[in-house]
Amino acid sequence: MKVIVDRSRCTGHGRCYVLSPEVFEPDDDGYCTTNLAEVPADLLGQAERGAANCPEEAITVGAGTDSNG
Ligand code: SF4
Repeated sequence: MKVIVDRSRCTGHGRCYVLSPEVFEPDDDGYCTTNLAEVPADLLGQAERGAANCPEEAITVGAGTDSNG
């Protein structure tokens, strides 16, 4: 699974990285970023929790279809 943060939507509430610190982290300005190109299975719940709690709907978690199908 991939996790994508739409930084044009992110307003820096911080809910994602407070709730799911192993997937999301703040940049220097408090906006969300992630270092995970692929979310390992054991962190998928965290990724989905962050996405579900983002008021701006800036986080998408889903299967990648652009490389290995
Ligand atoms: S919860 Fe959403 S708006 Fe807030 S920092 Fe995370 S991605 Fe950005």
